[in-house]
Amino acid sequence: MDLLVDPAPLRQQCQKWRSQGLGIALVPTMGFLHAGHLSLFDHARTLAGRLVVSIFVNPAQFGPGEDLDRYPRDLPRDLELCRAHGVDLVFAPEPGAMYHPDHAAWIDVPELGAGLCGASRPGHFRGVCTVVAKLFGLVRPHVAVFGEKDWQQLAILRRMTRDLELGVTIVGRPIFREPDGLALSSRNVNLTPEERAGAPAIRQGLLLVQKAARAGQLDAAALGLIFRRHLAEKLPAARLDYAEFVHPEALTPAARLEAPALLAVAVFLGRVRLIDNILLEV
Ligand code: AMP
Repeated sequence: MDLLVDPAPLRQQCQKWRSQGLGIALVPTMGFLHAGHLSLFDHARTLAGRLVVSIFVNPAQFGPGEDLDRYPRDLPRDLELCRAHGVDLVFAPEPGAMYHPDHAAWIDVPELGAGLCGASRPGHFRGVCTVVAKLFGLVRPHVAVFGEKDWQQLAILRRMTRDLELGVTIVGRPIFREPDGLALSSRNVNLTPEERAGAPAIRQGLLLVQKAARAGQLDAAALGLIFRRHLAEKLPAARLDYAEFVHPEALTPAARLEAPALLAVAVFLGRVRLIDNILLEV
């Protein structure tokens, strides 16, 4: 397995693979890898002859006062996991290698990026789109794999790739969860033991809503109330950032669940912000 920290040799190596007729799969990450990431690697490996993983805590997608400095990092451990999961090349640049001092080009998909996480994290998806476009430009992968945990991110990247004709197949993969239902996240290590113990209430709330929808409750406001009440009862320390029903691709608000809708939620537990979602097909 190769480890590269500079863009130029990354571009060279990927160019070489392409000229040998090898397909390239890319999985962008911010590192501190967990089983959710590894499930993406395992799937991506089946899609192309070479697997490239990027590990980069992208400053451009963090706002002032967010957890850029607290974001967990452990490159040696990440490299071990990548090696064990058949990754061919890890690209782990420093911010200075990814952004020129006078970097000035940004990609934004405001129609999809203004709501949900974008509302409480202005500029976040602009940072995500820009770094992913840069990675696509360097690696020129045939396929890129992302997790459905970050559903909005996936929808935005699909739209960016389609609208800019980037020629990369975008593949989404299901949320990988702890046995108690909590979605795996690098940020989970920053939860206190009490917060970690209560965190599965988020998933339980999503399942309660699914159950009510399947039983015939199609009104988004009523379903939203079920989630809020559950959270207030089971996890009183939590602060709900949002719980919204949206069209799964357009991310526009859904008032009634006559067509499939996504319930997306973000919850602050102490200083940690957790996101989760469920696709409701009624
Ligand atoms: P991150 O390192 O958090 O930026 O995540 C890198 C990729 O892994 C993104 O495509 C995420 O959606 C995906 N991912 C993160 N957590 C999970 C999970 N629990 N299950 C599946 N994919 C995940």
